[in-house]
Amino acid sequence: MTAAPTTSKRPRVLIVEDDMMSRTLLMSALKKEGYEFAVARNGQEAIDLYSQEFFPIIITDWLMPEMDGLELCRLIRSMKIDRYIYIIVLTGQNSKTDLVKGLEAGADEYMVKPIHQAELRVRLKGACRILELETSLKKNMAEIREISIRDRLTGIFNRVYMDHHLSQEIIRSSRYHHSLSVLMCDLDHFKVINDTYGHLAGDDVLRACVDHISASFRQGVDWLARYGGEEFVVVLPETDLTGALHVAERMRVRIASTPVNFAGCEIEITASFGSVTVIPNFNGQVRYMEQVLNVADTCLYQAKNSGRNRIVSAEM
Ligand code: GH3
Ligand code: MG
Ligand code: MG
Ligand code: MG
Repeated sequence: MTAAPTTSKRPRVLIVEDDMMSRTLLMSALKKEGYEFAVARNGQEAIDLYSQEFFPIIITDWLMPEMDGLELCRLIRSMKIDRYIYIIVLTGQNSKTDLVKGLEAGADEYMVKPIHQAELRVRLKGACRILELETSLKKNMAEIREISIRDRLTGIFNRVYMDHHLSQEIIRSSRYHHSLSVLMCDLDHFKVINDTYGHLAGDDVLRACVDHISASFRQGVDWLARYGGEEFVVVLPETDLTGALHVAERMRVRIASTPVNFAGCEIEITASFGSVTVIPNFNGQVRYMEQVLNVADTCLYQAKNSGRNRIVSAEM
């Protein structure tokens, strides 16, 4: 006698079958293959069970009261679900026309009763291959998505992310009448650092500044993106002018008081900030990201012109 395969990695199966005898046979066949399962007696019960648990595989009978197997297939395929459900129809309807109907309804596989143990095993293997493929594709997509929104040098968000999410923050702040502040930070005389200590030192300085900025804001609420070479945009939701000035000052002091160590040299850095606070308006006037960034940029320009290592702010 061979031991049942381990069930730990096996996807859970939902059996949908109105006939008790067929159910019992299928349950015992699944047990032999090492699959765990739940049972529904018709399509509607199956749908109801999904509100409690997700089943990656369904093995369904065709003819059942309330909702039959093909209706169940059609309903599942019409639903917006972010995970794939592999559906096997297991039925006594054994003509080619029936098979075509079953597959047309959205089934992945069509098996004719009585259950054939070896056939069930290989059909389920096929299901597992598809589900594993789905998992690995999703993992790859998530990785690609993550790479596409990150700056390679510093690991913070890039401009692609900023363009989309800052616009969203601005819309949200005006919809809910909350203030929103945006800081534009630019390192002072950064070119000199590159020219004096080399590009690698410059890279280290950029990473150090990112650490200082990140350490100065609310984790999980505020966020930071690399806007250009040595320019960063910090987004502070639900933050008024006073709050924004506090945060910017904390960043400014931290950057200016922490020299970066590179190959035994202590590199002094400072940064200038343009701070803009979008005041919630009740006149229905829409503010666009480009306008907000323009005002922040003008403030930054003034901070640079009035001596650097400082903050200039505005409200709009
Ligand atoms: P200011 O105080 O007016 O901002 O002067 P600055 O020298 O900081 O500004 P400028 O725009 O003249 O020079 C920015 C420099 O940043 C030039 C560019 O080579 C450098 N830079 C941009 N991206 C990177 C990077 O990824 N790594 C390094 N090391 N340097 C970079
Ligand atoms: Mg039936
Ligand atoms: Mg600069
Ligand atoms: Mg610059």
